[in-house]
Amino acid sequence: MTIQTRIEESQNPQSDPQSGVTRRTNPDETRHDWTRAELQALFDLPFNDLLFEAQLVHRRWFKANQVQMSTLLSIKTGGCPEDCGYCAQSAKFETGLKASKLMEVEKVLAEARKAKEAGATRYCMGAAWREPKDRDMDMVCAMIEGVKEMGMETCMTLGMLSGQQVHRLAQTGLDYYNHNVDTSEEYYPNVISTRTYQDRLDTLERVRNAGINVCSGGIVGMGESADDRIGMLMTLANLPEHPQSVPINMLMPMEGTPLGRSEKVDPLDFVRMIAVARIAMPKSVVRIAAGRELMSEEHQALCFMAGANSVFVGDKLLTAKNPEEDKDRKLFAKLGIEPMPAHSCPSEK
Ligand code: SAM
Ligand code: SF4
Repeated sequence: MTIQTRIEESQNPQSDPQSGVTRRTNPDETRHDWTRAELQALFDLPFNDLLFEAQLVHRRWFKANQVQMSTLLSIKTGGCPEDCGYCAQSAKFETGLKASKLMEVEKVLAEARKAKEAGATRYCMGAAWREPKDRDMDMVCAMIEGVKEMGMETCMTLGMLSGQQVHRLAQTGLDYYNHNVDTSEEYYPNVISTRTYQDRLDTLERVRNAGINVCSGGIVGMGESADDRIGMLMTLANLPEHPQSVPINMLMPMEGTPLGRSEKVDPLDFVRMIAVARIAMPKSVVRIAAGRELMSEEHQALCFMAGANSVFVGDKLLTAKNPEEDKDRKLFAKLGIEPMPAHSCPSEK
């Protein structure tokens, strides 16, 4: 019996005839009213049942073996006035990182060309800002225009945005804006004090209302509880529109930051997070983002099985290490993974 017929068979949310798994979700619907108890129940499923459910939902909306390849460049590094406890770029911590000013447009576009040649279909540009200054917007928009001309999806992550700045980015044709909620609302004050959770939700609302696709997720492994992890997914899955991209980062402990000595996340709990994110936000691209450098091939393979379908490629992730190109190429060949074509996310605007 092919998976396709199994999917048809199991569209009935009562139970899947073969596996006996009582389906908790109807993959055809996108919900915005998840309860903590429902997400917890998914998280607590036997591992195989959870991954089976996630894989069925995943195949309902995506080609199972396609993974969206993004590359992330730090266009302005370090010296940030915010105190995000995980971040090597904060000026509040002694991390030894050398700050640099906003890169020239041409240099950014030269890096983008290299990323495109290496197979990236989305180019993400990140700045260590609390928010951009209006004087920076001309250069930022020139970068967006230049990357768009290369045929890649464009993404920016510049911190909080004013209404006017969002409008400018939308007019320039920005495809995605990243702004992570990072953790649950309850745990958030333990991580960041210079920007409130509501500030983040307000920026997401401005971006959504401006018609720009949202990229928003968070970090696992900052000392949060299992309940906080569910809380973060609940925030994301109950937004009026699911973020079109959901990056799930595994904390990369940075020397000199308050979270620099955090315990490693249980790898299987991380896979469960991916699977619950997949089920709760069926049409979103779910990315294993930061921390992939710390994951074994087996761990990554389980994440893909759980419905992850996006990664950052390229050996640097802002200021942190990322798996080298060759290592990724070998892994994707082993797993039969191919790049997802640009603009093929079912929920993309
Ligand atoms: N300054 C912009 C901002 O804060 O919105 C963008 C910078 S960067 C893209 C921000 C995101 O990268 C954070 O929200 C966090 O999710 C992720 N990140 C930064 N440092 C990290 C670390 N050490 N481990 C895991 N994720 C990290
Ligand atoms: Fe600054 Fe962004 Fe790092 Fe927070 S995550 S300290 S806002 S660069």
